Amino acid sequence: MRHGNAVLSPSYMLRKLSKLSLLLTAVGLFLACGHFLFNNLNARSMVTGIDHQDVSVRLENATFVMLVRNNEVHSARTSIRYVEDRFNHKYHYPWIFLNDRPFSRDFKAMTENLVSGEATYAQIPREHWSMPDWVDKQKAKKCLKSFAEKGILYGGSESYRHMCRFFSGFMAKQPELLKYDYYWRVEPNTQLYCDIDYDPFTFMRTNNKKYGWVINLKEFASTIESLWGTVQNFTLENPQYVHPNNSVGFIVNDHKNITSGSYNLCHYWSNFEIAALDFWRSPVYTEYFEYLDRTGNFFYERWGDAPVHSIAASIFLDREEVHWFYDIGYRHHPFTHCPEPRKEFHESGKCYCNPLENFDRNYYSCSREYKKMLSKPVGYFEIDASNHQKDDVRSPEGTRIQKKSNNNDNNKNKMIEINHPKFAIINENDKINEKNARQQARVENLKHAGVLVSK
Ligand code: GDP
Ligand code: MN
Repeated sequence: MRHGNAVLSPSYMLRKLSKLSLLLTAVGLFLACGHFLFNNLNARSMVTGIDHQDVSVRLENATFVMLVRNNEVHSARTSIRYVEDRFNHKYHYPWIFLNDRPFSRDFKAMTENLVSGEATYAQIPREHWSMPDWVDKQKAKKCLKSFAEKGILYGGSESYRHMCRFFSGFMAKQPELLKYDYYWRVEPNTQLYCDIDYDPFTFMRTNNKKYGWVINLKEFASTIESLWGTVQNFTLENPQYVHPNNSVGFIVNDHKNITSGSYNLCHYWSNFEIAALDFWRSPVYTEYFEYLDRTGNFFYERWGDAPVHSIAASIFLDREEVHWFYDIGYRHHPFTHCPEPRKEFHESGKCYCNPLENFDRNYYSCSREYKKMLSKPVGYFEIDASNHQKDDVRSPEGTRIQKKSNNNDNNKNKMIEINHPKFAIINENDKINEKNARQQARVENLKHAGVLVSK
């Protein structure tokens, strides 16, 4: 009993406890060192060279942006959840939801607790979502009808055109975005397939990147017939804006330049963008957008924000300022970007997409053009636009001056369009019958390409 009492005596217990706490501290230190070492050994990606940090707070002046309709709330929730699970639950960056109409109570209720940062819901001002007064409404109506009849994707949709013009010219200038430096554009119904264990916004800032993308592909030629001519005009009038270390080789093939070459239809798919807002707010970009907008061709044709952004990034930015987020596994119907190296992205447990479905392997991907462009030495695409004549393009008012097009390129572009896998998507709002539309488009395109002669 005495022995038993001695075991339970307070001094004995204290000695035991302090030994135990010493042991626990030692184990804790060991684990912490191991964790530190392990994290640092794995901190740098072998493929992208990006340093992966271990943080749990918002670090940058950045936000997510989603343009969305009230009735897309469940598709929006899917995308939000992916972004939160793969990245933002550690960082809590805010979300800005934009809409041309007021957000419904239901939309807010179903999203505001799903995001881990602050949620802001804003309505876009009318002047950023309507036809400007220089656009001829009757002409626009006729153009929409004729685009719809040709079966061009979203050809008959006016709202789609407002959306494209909005992203091209006004998104970065919304009052809710003014206080931010970077944004990440998220669309409803998109998926992320890989854990993102570093902050892409920090990556953008510390590496002086202005534009980040994941998927690139070819545009439908029939939606942007006069875009390239207008861009050529703009650069001829403003040769000082062309960056000496541009990436024009991505959008113009065969070592030609802006004024001697034609647009190869390559663009970064803008439903995913991580970019610097100051680029879209810069005087150069603003002037470029206004020049394009004066033509009215966001409405008379159907210029997309993706080619508009991509062409600007390729001409006005240093090619070093454009970044391919190769490590971000992403899907927007019908295309998937899945990073391919097995060891880093798949065997590590980081991603769960199928590398065989990676869109870079597809004929319509422009990754080949991108890599080819990068393989050229710095300054390779420097352009002296002042030597060229402004003779083969449209005026900013959209009137044809003299169309001196390269027939071979045009035919090639039309043929590319016929089998474009994006034809799988059809605009339900326009109630276009998919089969008829495709058939119609084929006939039209073959006629254009000179393969079919109309009777
Ligand atoms: P696609 O990706 O080219 O097929 O076009 P989407 O239909 O996905 O539209 C692109 C983005 O703009 C998505 O985020 C849509 O939710 C959004 N969007 C398109 N049209 C409208 C519209 O009329 N109003 C609002 N609020 N959002 C729109
Ligand atoms: Mn979409």
